[in-house]
Amino acid sequence: MIKVKKRKFLLLPGDGIGPEVINEVKKIINWFNNKKSLDFEMEEDLAGGISYDKHGTPITDEVFYKALECEAVILGAVGGPKWDNVEFSKKPERALLKLRKELKLFANLRPAICFKQLVDASTLKPEVVSGLDIMIVRELTGGIYFGEPRGIKPIDNGERKGINTHTYTSSEIRRVAKVAFDLAKKRQNKVTSCEKSNVMEAGLLWREEVQELHDKEYKDVNLNHMLADNCSMQLLRNPKQFDVIVTDNLFGDMLSDQASMLTGSLGLLPSASLGAKNKDGKLRAMYEPIHGSAPDIAGKGIANPIASILSFAMALKYSLNLDNEANALEKAVQDVLDDGLRTKDIISKGTKEVSTSQMGDAIISKLQ
Ligand code: NAD
Repeated sequence: MIKVKKRKFLLLPGDGIGPEVINEVKKIINWFNNKKSLDFEMEEDLAGGISYDKHGTPITDEVFYKALECEAVILGAVGGPKWDNVEFSKKPERALLKLRKELKLFANLRPAICFKQLVDASTLKPEVVSGLDIMIVRELTGGIYFGEPRGIKPIDNGERKGINTHTYTSSEIRRVAKVAFDLAKKRQNKVTSCEKSNVMEAGLLWREEVQELHDKEYKDVNLNHMLADNCSMQLLRNPKQFDVIVTDNLFGDMLSDQASMLTGSLGLLPSASLGAKNKDGKLRAMYEPIHGSAPDIAGKGIANPIASILSFAMALKYSLNLDNEANALEKAVQDVLDDGLRTKDIISKGTKEVSTSQMGDAIISKLQ
């Protein structure tokens, strides 16, 4: 069999359950290397609280440069109560923000898929969520989380004023909309763009730019615009009307969390953050489960590794164009769920509880 070029993943397991779930991803990477002769290289390093404890910073320059050089970063989760009192700029979560900003990861892809085997785990009626498959594309490096001026300053009469600024340029809007249109073409060919153009100028610009890009380059994709508050309501009323939703950083933060809960479990959902291509045509990217470090269950061997494993499937698809391998991995996850194996977070009557590592092993055995 012909060996493909070595491709390097930087694994940053992080804190809490991060190392436990990333350990299962490592097993899967090893399986692909051994059984499919895919010469993936893995390098592991510290990010988050564990890096702060060792180096006094949530991410060292050395690790950051490794992230710039690798094919893709695979992150577990960062943070936890241990670091609650650490100064703001040194908090574990700053590692994530630095990676997102410096790697220019402007498009955050969050699928919300309701696995048919877990339809009862959703708080919504089965007929509303069964078969749900939405992709939310959230702008990740602009908008109110990064806009200047920002801060808290004293004003007259002894009061203080908190300031954040919501800004977007045409190019920031267009590049993320382009990602959404391209994705839609591989899915149901439908994009819903969300903003608040009724009350925000930046929202109006968002709507105009998305429409213009559509009319020039993506006429064949169905586009509709929706106010973000209406989208929030529609996600609960009739979520299956959506295919790809594209929206800004703030609304995306909320809508994607809301959409993820339609599916019932945090432990199942992956995410990808994509950046611009570098001069070698390489797409900068980071893949991570949407859940956090789950300090309440860390070290118990019960965390669900599926979100991390599906994040790796996204890496195969979006960073390496290995669609067949990604599909095989996704199917292996479905097969294991079909067999009734469940980690504690998704256990239900008539299913069998397995540990984190047993779940990883079962997925690998389905890949065989
Ligand atoms: P969380 O996602 O860590 O946990 C929420 C609940 O879901 C907990 O009950 C947890 O046990 C459960 N859960 C989460 N992932 C699970 C999994 N894979 N398997 C089984 N159960 C799972 O959110 P939180 O409790 O709000 O945050 C804990 C810490 O994680 C905080 O320090 C927070 O800042 C951090 N955090 C990090 C990220 C990240 O690294 N991307 C994201 C969110 C939160």
